[in-house]
Amino acid sequence: MPPKTIFEPARQIPLYGEYEVAVLGGGPAGIAAAVAAARAGRRTLLIERYGFLGGMGTAAGVTNFCGLHANVHGEMHRLVRGIASDLLARIDRLGGLNAPHLILGKILAQAYDTAAYKIAADDLLSACKVDILFHALGAGVVMHDERRINALLVETKAGRQAVSARIFIDCSGDGDLAAWAGAPFEVGDNEGGMLYPSMMFRLNGIDPERAGDAWRTIPALMEKAEAAGTHKFPRKSAIVRPQRSGIEWRVNFTQLKRDDGRAINGLEPDDLTRGEIDGRRQAVAAFEFLRTVPGFEKSYIVDLPPQLGIRETRRVIGGYMLSGEDVLGCASFEDSVGVNGWPMEVHVAGDVIFKFPPIPESRGFNELPYRMLLPQGVDNLLVAGRCASMTHDGQSAARVSGACFAMGEAAGSAAGLALSGNTIPRDIAVEKLQQALQQQGAFIGRDQKVPEGL
Ligand SMILES: Cc1cc2nc3c(=O)[nH]c(=O)nc-3n(C[C@H](O)[C@H](O)[C@H](O)COP(=O)(O)OP(=O)(O)OC[C@H]3O[C@@H](n4cnc5c(N)ncnc54)[C@H](O)[C@@H]3O)c2cc1C
Repeated sequence: MPPKTIFEPARQIPLYGEYEVAVLGGGPAGIAAAVAAARAGRRTLLIERYGFLGGMGTAAGVTNFCGLHANVHGEMHRLVRGIASDLLARIDRLGGLNAPHLILGKILAQAYDTAAYKIAADDLLSACKVDILFHALGAGVVMHDERRINALLVETKAGRQAVSARIFIDCSGDGDLAAWAGAPFEVGDNEGGMLYPSMMFRLNGIDPERAGDAWRTIPALMEKAEAAGTHKFPRKSAIVRPQRSGIEWRVNFTQLKRDDGRAINGLEPDDLTRGEIDGRRQAVAAFEFLRTVPGFEKSYIVDLPPQLGIRETRRVIGGYMLSGEDVLGCASFEDSVGVNGWPMEVHVAGDVIFKFPPIPESRGFNELPYRMLLPQGVDNLLVAGRCASMTHDGQSAARVSGACFAMGEAAGSAAGLALSGNTIPRDIAVEKLQQALQQQGAFIGRDQKVPEGL
């Protein structure tokens, strides 16, 4: 039976503002997109439903950057630079950035404190004169015609308002804006399966001396506990690692599913509600086990984040969909606007499967084509971040923060170029975008020298 509906009468909506560029979503992609557009001299607004920036990195308690680095023929390099470097420097100045740490002996990641990330991102956007509208939930669009967005509708405490712009950038992670505008998209593996979400949490009160390298011993302790029948875990491959202060560790341990065993769907309100509640229950169960690990006996849950961590929902279909083969084959593209050095990280039922390009034989990173950012069917829209144009497999890699910063910077810069040329993003000269990105300090692959250092 179709759901019951009610009629909402048409109404006049106050115009919040008229912008050249409007960015929906303040995660890594949105931060970089807004900064790049503003640095290109464009009047830019970033709209975010929470009262802080960082996306999943803060709102879902991720507290760890992946994908900034690549393992290039056995040597580590930080490849994602440009705006990401400006943000990292600010986080570091606040004392909130760890040194990079090795994952699976093959690739680096870098942990951070969420408070420092939030403050650093505020500072960066305000230094670049980006206008920010917090506590505003994007809720729909008004179109000029089939191919052009006129305004984004947002729900705020002051009621529904409209934001008009010449170019929109969808960095919502879920492809909300692109879907409302009528761009085609896929969801998960197209068979109802998505990467499973997790409820992150952090523990404090750990004895760092006694805990030592507990991340190495925890998987075996989990197996032992399951064999003894004292605990049952939602997934293998738990990630439990120290933050900047060794008394505090982040825990990436949970996995949220529906009754039919499939992943909680981040586009369904009832699924999300269940995921939040089950996620907190799983966090408590994980904590009870972790308290049995040496050094963790006196620990306590210091933080459960504002929301469940969603890895994948809509992926907008653009001019090219980055695939798993592209990631494993370290693909090159003539229209490259950035790179991804993170492997495929597939969150399947009960486990996490990593697939790396050959190491050290390969250069360890793929390029990201500009076409990934150009949704089909809508002319004044770019999309960046985890909802950009990728296959389910490609997204399992390039959804992490590093590639999202790179995509965001490219999208914001492309919007700037399109506006200066009085054209649409699809029609800009890609070479000009590539030049601009390199001048801004970004690494886009091609014939550019691989940056040295971490
Ligand atoms: C549990 C978990 C662990 C992870 N671990 C890591 C890790 O260790 N390292 C790593 O680099 N990556 C990790 N990731 C992946 C990474 O965090 C995300 O893929 C990345 O943050 C995506 O960036 P984004 O900017 O595309 O989107 P998001 O980070 O999802 O940001 C989207 C933003 O848009 C806002 N938004 C969405 N819809 C609307 C709307 N309608 N109106 C207004 N605002 C809206 C959201 O509030 C959010 O701030 C993890 C993800 C999860 C879920």
